[in-house]
Amino acid sequence: MAKSDFTFRRYKDGDDSHGNMGMDIFEQDTTYKCPTYVNRTPPCQGSCPSGEDIRGWLSIICGTEKPAGDTDKFEYAFYRSTDANPFPAIMGRVCPAPCQEGCNRNEVEDFVGINSVEQFIGDNAREKGLKFENSAVDTDKRVAIIGGGVGGLACAYQLRRQGHAVTVFDNHKKLGGMMRYGIPGYRTPRDVMDHEIQRILDMGVEVKLNTFIGKDISMETLREDYDAVVLAIGAQSGRNIPIPGGEAPNCITGVSFLDAYNDGRLKTVSKKVVVIGGGDTAMDVVSVARRLGHIENTHESERPENIILNQTAQDVAITAKKEGSDVILAYRRPVDQMPAALHEVEAAEREGVELRGSLVPVSVVTDDNGRATALRVSKADWTSGKMEIIENSEFDIECDLIVSAIGQGGDLSGMESLDNGRGLIDADKFYQVPNEEGLFVIGDIIRPHLLTTAIGQASVAAESINHFLSQEAFSKRPKVDVHHFDLLHKLQETSLQPEAYAHQDDWGTDGSNFAIHNYEDRSANEIIPAEKLFLGHFDKTARNLRPESFIQSENIIDSYEERFQGLVEEDAEKEADRCMSCGMCFECDNCVIYCPQDAVHRTKKAESTMGRYVYTDYFRCIGCHICSDVCPTGYINMAMGEH
Ligand code: SF4
Ligand code: SF4
Repeated sequence: MAKSDFTFRRYKDGDDSHGNMGMDIFEQDTTYKCPTYVNRTPPCQGSCPSGEDIRGWLSIICGTEKPAGDTDKFEYAFYRSTDANPFPAIMGRVCPAPCQEGCNRNEVEDFVGINSVEQFIGDNAREKGLKFENSAVDTDKRVAIIGGGVGGLACAYQLRRQGHAVTVFDNHKKLGGMMRYGIPGYRTPRDVMDHEIQRILDMGVEVKLNTFIGKDISMETLREDYDAVVLAIGAQSGRNIPIPGGEAPNCITGVSFLDAYNDGRLKTVSKKVVVIGGGDTAMDVVSVARRLGHIENTHESERPENIILNQTAQDVAITAKKEGSDVILAYRRPVDQMPAALHEVEAAEREGVELRGSLVPVSVVTDDNGRATALRVSKADWTSGKMEIIENSEFDIECDLIVSAIGQGGDLSGMESLDNGRGLIDADKFYQVPNEEGLFVIGDIIRPHLLTTAIGQASVAAESINHFLSQEAFSKRPKVDVHHFDLLHKLQETSLQPEAYAHQDDWGTDGSNFAIHNYEDRSANEIIPAEKLFLGHFDKTARNLRPESFIQSENIIDSYEERFQGLVEEDAEKEADRCMSCGMCFECDNCVIYCPQDAVHRTKKAESTMGRYVYTDYFRCIGCHICSDVCPTGYINMAMGEH
């Protein structure tokens, strides 16, 4: 847990004398203002690249926010979460969860297990066979999406919700992109992934597989035949290690290694494998290599590099006599600075991977046939914060397979004119390609990043495409560009919306019914930090962990069991209940109880809903700000003007 300067103390040392405490309330106040209720974005949501209303669906799961009528709360939470991200079961399993790093609960004891609850929501929806609604009116507009990975499919989902016809083109035999061909099945179980993909296709998405743009169909034809085109082609080419000898046949890329494995062609590796890199791809490669093991005296045609490069498959029968492979990961920075998710690093270590940090590849040592026999490395010193190569520290790490997982690039064949000079494609803030009206781009081909990033970009791009197809100007993007809680929508859902405005002069609006009173939505501009909460309200409560299968090194060969089993319903509710509802009332009653003027009241049950649980009687309020001080969620601001 990060060390924090935060303190629950409200007074400074020596600040201990007071007269009449009752009078202090009236005299100490400097605000002369009354409470107003302010919704801000919680940091979990602000750190989630797909911008999910995390606070919202946690609040639904733990029972604070109620669905209208007799809708099942888990179903309601599913639709809230998939408003932004249609892959809860997959993302709950594989996302490295930057939301958890940002969670304010880290300042109390530990983050909320957001992605374990997300996995629960996704698994529960799958069990219950929940579908996506497809009720939007048909707009008669057609959009082509090139690339059926997570970004392309999320974009198809958002566009279908707006009533546009969508065709997804993909050059693989199955949809899923990196989710299928980059991440091993024990992290993204294929049945779970296929289910979430099918749910999107069931909205009426047309799919054309095994189709290469620039070969089977040209970009020009696509742009003529469709009203808009989205490039979601990913970055599916790996980068070879740029050192002398790096072109040896048994030096391959992490992307091609994982593609061959996930395609079912690669079933064993070599006896000694060195993987270069420290990111998630490197972690997947080392974990897969340990699981595959090796076979002594493999025929040349069955060597991993030949299987990968020649697009052939290893013979199933050879896998009978597998033995363990020595797998070493070499990273140029210290091991504790690897960008891969800590959880994956720990799992790799447990599974028998040797992690070696501060090693810089110098060259590949080859034999007379040009095959790599070792990776030559130098030791690096990072104590100054910069890399300094230690003189005469070179040594060789013997190996018969080198896998470079140092980055990815795109394959822009057939669309070379879009190359920004770095093998990627530029996008403006609406995800349109600059100077290419009607051509949009999302995901790794802009800059390789997380799956959740591509999903977030898909939402924004779909909105831009909708404006483009309706011949409207793109709308300005908010500072905090996420899927916000919408109080008006919530009130409509529960038939509590304000009355229609009659457009006539009114003297004073405090008693009118055509507006939402005393509520300010700053969620598009502000993220609420821990300092604005009353953290002393929360008891330290341990995180409810998902049961996990800890596979040990000695049992690793051919162990493809899923690492995480999901939370059971009761634990998902308990974990969601740890959420502190940063920036939104969670109905704790503190303000009602502590107000010395009896000015804060609960809204009548029939009129109460999320964000409208309490109200202030301004004829009684004296501006003492006690309600604001005791509000755990930071929802109360002393901001109502002087009176
Ligand atoms: S406590 Fe809840 S609302 Fe606050 S940052 Fe964490 S998950 Fe989000
Ligand atoms: S004190 Fe509790 S009930 Fe009052 S506004 Fe804050 S969270 Fe809501």
